[in-house]
Amino acid sequence: MPHLKPQHTAAVRPQTVHSAGRKAVKMTVSKEDYLKAIAEAESEGDVVIAATLARWLSISPPAVTAGLRRLKRDGLVRKDKGGRLLLTSEGRAIAERIRIRHNLIERMLHEVFGMEWYKVHDEAERLEHAVSQDFEERLTAVLGEDRPCPHGNHVVMDTIGDRRERGWRRLNEIVNAGKYEVAAVDERDRRFLEFVDSVGLRPGQTFEWKSKNYDDTMTLGLDSRECRIGVTAAERIWVRSAAGKRRGAR
Ligand SMILES: [Zn+2]
Repeated sequence: MPHLKPQHTAAVRPQTVHSAGRKAVKMTVSKEDYLKAIAEAESEGDVVIAATLARWLSISPPAVTAGLRRLKRDGLVRKDKGGRLLLTSEGRAIAERIRIRHNLIERMLHEVFGMEWYKVHDEAERLEHAVSQDFEERLTAVLGEDRPCPHGNHVVMDTIGDRRERGWRRLNEIVNAGKYEVAAVDERDRRFLEFVDSVGLRPGQTFEWKSKNYDDTMTLGLDSRECRIGVTAAERIWVRSAAGKRRGAR
């Protein structure tokens, strides 16, 4: 069987959404991906314009223009005067639903089937579109509601501001020696996740921040060994202090 790329190659039955005052909107994998990308880019502090989407979804600008036209026609996305893309309340509801299903699938694969944490995102990108309301309810009953995914990320829109308010910092911003814990990592790049796993920096791992080096790397103490990590990876890893760690804290 040929290796499936993280893009959507599986045939998924489109779902139908009924929005108030409008006739039923036929959903497709690609429409759902657009809505989710807008919501996620927004939560990461990006001003979302068509070019942002082209970058996030790795598709050509003309394809994005055509996709957005369909979403505007369906009343799921609108554009403000400056060209900024905004989700309508119907569009946001769909994006949230997909994000919840993504989280449940990742947790199912990891917690129930023991799939490696760095692999589950790609699987969930495909399967999230095929989850019915019924299956979602069963998954929630088994796995519990509103828990972080294996990458440490939360379903409810968790902006950069929210994270900072909780005391999370990006690893590359740390300048004081001390004990820290990996809170979450960006999850969309498989090569990055495999790298992070190979150095042992998975979510929940505690480490000692030792020094910043001349070559822009930092030295970390992990259990009984040391590792050096560069700024490109460090800026995609969220950490919190492990000094006054509270139980159950997000
Ligand atoms: Zn995740």
